[in-house]
Amino acid sequence: MVEQAEEELQSIYRQIDQNALWNQQKVLQAFHKYQLADFHFTGSTGYGYNDAGREVLERVYAEVFQAEAALVRPHITSGTHAIALALFGVLRPGDQLLYATGKPYDTLKNVIGDAKNTANEGSLADFGIHSTYVPLQDDGTPNIDGLLQGITPKTKMIGIQRSSGYDWRPALTIQDIDRLVRVIRSVNKDVVIFVDNCYGEFCEPLEPTQVGADLVVGSLIKNPGGGLAPSGGYIVGKEPYVRQAAGRLTVPGIGGEGGATLGTNRSLLQGLFLAPHVVGQALKGAVLAAYVFDQIGMKTSPAWNATRTDLIQAIEFGARERLITFCQAIQSSAPVDSHVRPEPWAMPGYSDEVIMAAGAFIQGSSIELSADGPIRPPYIGYMQGGLTYEHCKLTILQVLEDLYSL
Ligand SMILES: *Cc1c(COP(=O)(O)O)cnc(C)c1O
Repeated sequence: MVEQAEEELQSIYRQIDQNALWNQQKVLQAFHKYQLADFHFTGSTGYGYNDAGREVLERVYAEVFQAEAALVRPHITSGTHAIALALFGVLRPGDQLLYATGKPYDTLKNVIGDAKNTANEGSLADFGIHSTYVPLQDDGTPNIDGLLQGITPKTKMIGIQRSSGYDWRPALTIQDIDRLVRVIRSVNKDVVIFVDNCYGEFCEPLEPTQVGADLVVGSLIKNPGGGLAPSGGYIVGKEPYVRQAAGRLTVPGIGGEGGATLGTNRSLLQGLFLAPHVVGQALKGAVLAAYVFDQIGMKTSPAWNATRTDLIQAIEFGARERLITFCQAIQSSAPVDSHVRPEPWAMPGYSDEVIMAAGAFIQGSSIELSADGPIRPPYIGYMQGGLTYEHCKLTILQVLEDLYSL
């Protein structure tokens, strides 16, 4: 069945290869332009001034994203931290943040805070920054009229989340983001347009900065780290905004000039070099999963033949034990921690039990194949990543075998 699926998917795989080739060339040309050399891998200690490798890494990112500036650091703890740096960097007391793509990703809840109920932990709300969002329409697409009505003189920043995250909705393609940016610009030239690019990098030939986004951020333990970056995040975009975010990461006055890289330059650069290919492998794995699960009668989002702009594949299992079996099979096929069995548990911050499968070389890395799902009807499992297509395929075979023996 899987071999027949692969026959059927040849033309989609060719498009994915074509896109990977294009992005590989982009990255390679940026390395050439800035003359990446062996001594750039040395890195720095202490204050981290004059770290030539870090400087090349950031120029290369700016080039790849066609942005004025970049901040790419192992000190950025997670995607959420990168997003928070962008928000805290740009927003000032009294400003409003408006999210155009529905409720922001779960982990941003504490960053945004709640004006009525402040925990006084330094959220945006604690600083008098008000956040609101425009709910998505019933079909999961942005509500343009609602967005235009939501923009007020206080709106300083508009947020766009490219990936579907853990919602059953289509991700925003670069074309969709382009359309949103044009609509926003038609009524407001100055508002800062920010894109949460997590899981989106290198899925398409262009990035959000190339269709007019002012500030774009993501995590290095997702797509652009290529599976090699041991930690970190990036922020690319207009120079004044990147500088403001850098002032939050370190301090105003030092900004991006400091920050010892402690030997991570090689992994971040080599990871970026591998990223276009790795993203292609994960995309093929996601397409294969969508196809075979569809064949055995499950609902999938996106569908196997849909346009893809992120790595997340959602599958509706319709039964608790099938979702659990799926996650356990993913765990047992992982290169690391294959001997442990994930079980649903009451994770802090979630209303239902959650099951998570991950056996990764880098803790929490989701460019490596992983899966999770909340234990509630209709029992949707989310899978993402995969460093090699072969690993994705072997894992899908294992899932099928375990589902059939239920
Ligand atoms: C992963 C992700 C984030 C950030 O999550 P971290 O776990 O903090 O890295 C934010 N937004 C989206 C859409 C994501 O997929």
